[in-house]
Amino acid sequence: MVKLAEWRGKEVFRKYGIPLPRGHVARSANEVESLVRSGEVPLPCVVKAQVLAGGRGKGGAVKFANSPEEARSAASAILGLSFKDETVKEVLAEEKLPIAKEFYLSVALDRALRLPILIASAQGGVEIEGVADSAIDTQPVDPFPGITGYERRRAARVLQLTGSLAGELDSILRGLWNLFQGEDAELVEINPLAVVEGHLLALDSKVIVEDDALFRHPEYAEIQDDRTPLEEIAREKDIAFVQLDGNIGVIANGAGLTMATLDVLMELGGKPGVFLDLGGTDDPKKVTEAFLLMAQAKPRAVFLNIFGGVTRCDTVAKGLVEAMKKVPDGERFPLIARIRGNNEAEGIAILRSAGVTSLRELEESAKAAVAAAQGGRP
Ligand code: GDP
Ligand code: MN
Repeated sequence: MVKLAEWRGKEVFRKYGIPLPRGHVARSANEVESLVRSGEVPLPCVVKAQVLAGGRGKGGAVKFANSPEEARSAASAILGLSFKDETVKEVLAEEKLPIAKEFYLSVALDRALRLPILIASAQGGVEIEGVADSAIDTQPVDPFPGITGYERRRAARVLQLTGSLAGELDSILRGLWNLFQGEDAELVEINPLAVVEGHLLALDSKVIVEDDALFRHPEYAEIQDDRTPLEEIAREKDIAFVQLDGNIGVIANGAGLTMATLDVLMELGGKPGVFLDLGGTDDPKKVTEAFLLMAQAKPRAVFLNIFGGVTRCDTVAKGLVEAMKKVPDGERFPLIARIRGNNEAEGIAILRSAGVTSLRELEESAKAAVAAAQGGRP
């Protein structure tokens, strides 16, 4: 899934005719100050952290300013901030508008219904998870006609909009639907959709694009930048490699065994730090590359849990022994292995002769890995 930052989502809104405040994205306090001085961002203004997490309003990541100097200091207070584990690298500076009312509006994919749903609530501006179900109106949308006139009128009634505001809502809903379809979105959310001086405006945006549709949207593929540098290298080499917070590296094959291995380590008090799914490969070159990436993540210990089916235990073991020789001295770590299945005895013999702790049972080997990561001897 590709989640767009607010300013990117708003650029998409603009393309579909959804009305917005005037504003600009910026990457430095200087830039914000000059945007305000030049009048591109009118005063008073609001400076908003461009992170993917919500709740910025409550979390101090949205600030107001009445002068170019204030805008500058708001931006320097927000840039570089760590907000829910994301570092703020960009801010959106926008005109601050007098809000008369705040609504919630979204189109989302309901996987249980297998249909898009249109969600509207007169209680916007706050996180929708905190709004009572009775205050949220949900309508399934038939994707072929899209959001119909009847559904748009019902949304207007839910938001208690009449006259020209109902007309504006009607046009926003058409835009929202066209966006949802046209961009292959799985969620398009406006919260708040605000009444400002008698008009409706989208003050915030949340757009999530379905990643299976990225081949149709190369512009979004480029902004998927939540990978670590090692994950990025792994992706280029087509290796399934994910970094977590802990200190035990996990090498397994198949998503099921990999997840189960992480669970067992957690259960025994260990903290998996990076995992690698060898999938169906026993290609020694690929195993070596994967292992060297693992070494660069600097785990305290590595637990190898392989089931030899299509992958043969002895080939994986040979690949690993070769790879271990290539790990630089400073990056060595204790390796605990459990390999079962096809050519198991040969695989274990190869690993043991290379000095790898090779145990048969899952629990004892996982315990040994946890102990090794905590500094004990495997
Ligand atoms: P979120 O908390 O991460 O969802 O960030 P939002 O973009 O929804 O902003 C949080 C809150 O800031 C909104 O609900 C508004 O109350 C306030 N806010 C944002 N833009 C404006 C503005 O132009 N004028 C005023 N008065 N308040 C704003
Ligand atoms: Mn919001």
